[in-house]
Amino acid sequence: MTVRSLKSPEDLVDAGLIDESRLESVRRVTERYAVAVTPAMAGLIDGNDASDPIGLQFLPSEAELLQTPEERADPISDEAHSPVPGIVHRYPDRVLLKAVHVCPVYCRFCFRREMVGPQGNGTMGADELSTALAYIRDHEEIWEVILTGGDPLVLSPRRLTAIMEGLKAIAHVKIVRFHTRVPVVDPGHIETQLIEALKSSGKTTYIALHANHPRELTQEARAACARLIDAGIAMVSQSVLLKGINDAPDILADLMRAFVETRVKPYYLHHPDLAPGTSHFRMNIEDGQRIIAAMRGYISGLCQPTYVLDIPGGHGKAVIGQNAAAKQPEGCYSISDFNGNDHIYPPSAE
Ligand SMILES: *Cc1c(COP(=O)(O)O)cnc(C)c1O
Ligand code: SF4
Repeated sequence: MTVRSLKSPEDLVDAGLIDESRLESVRRVTERYAVAVTPAMAGLIDGNDASDPIGLQFLPSEAELLQTPEERADPISDEAHSPVPGIVHRYPDRVLLKAVHVCPVYCRFCFRREMVGPQGNGTMGADELSTALAYIRDHEEIWEVILTGGDPLVLSPRRLTAIMEGLKAIAHVKIVRFHTRVPVVDPGHIETQLIEALKSSGKTTYIALHANHPRELTQEARAACARLIDAGIAMVSQSVLLKGINDAPDILADLMRAFVETRVKPYYLHHPDLAPGTSHFRMNIEDGQRIIAAMRGYISGLCQPTYVLDIPGGHGKAVIGQNAAAKQPEGCYSISDFNGNDHIYPPSAE
């Protein structure tokens, strides 16, 4: 069991997670994209299994050197909707606040991979933070502030509290949401001081937990979520549909059930974004729709996430699950049930 995060190709070789013969080729990947694997995640990876679903998410691969023509550095055009540094304001009632560009792990499919990492956009300074808070204060339509990045839970409780105190003073902000992987990848980090800092805005607080495979929800991860939820924080999930990792109905069902068992309500299942060097993770939308359709009806409604695509160019998220209702020429609808049978709605009179 490793005691610190693995951050270089040499670390990964020493830990037995990649073969020494790949050191040179993997170095070409890590020169471009950051690497970090926490002890908790390293402990879950079977170094002898090249298709280990945890390993595929965090271990650098030569496949990342292939960039396809449709891929782009800023796949969902955060930059185009950034009125001041650190703020992304794409939807009327909510903004992203990107206070930090560091993560405890670096996911190989990350949609912000060109912006995160030790070489990334850095951490927001005091001046930038006050400009960002002033923007939120000046826009009364902002009902929700979403801290993302990077992973906001890597910030110290002191820095988080400073941001939360700023939000506390803005009456029109009712909801604070954190997007994080920490409860899963570093569960021991979820301790009292951090939890108090997360709640220190006094607003209704949500955490969107990012996890992609049921094995990530270890007993330690579940206990970390329980500490957050018992402290009064509501939790939802977000996952990315990833080829070779979770693109099968039974794996996704296990993942969604693990969330629900943990009191984390499944929220989004993202189709992978067009981030550079990630084509090996993407299936087509039709395959994604088939997987989603196979879960509907067979597992509890509590376990159903919404399948979404962030439209390239900054047009926001769109729901891309199959539409069960098809309008018929006579003005009624044909509705498909979970067994694939069609029914006319409203049914004709007896
Ligand atoms: C995804 C995203 C959000 C959050 O969207 P929800 O549908 O509310 O989860 C907000 N702002 C931006 C810019 C986003 O990309
Ligand atoms: S935790 Fe999020 S931001 Fe960080 S590397 Fe993974 S997907 Fe990217």
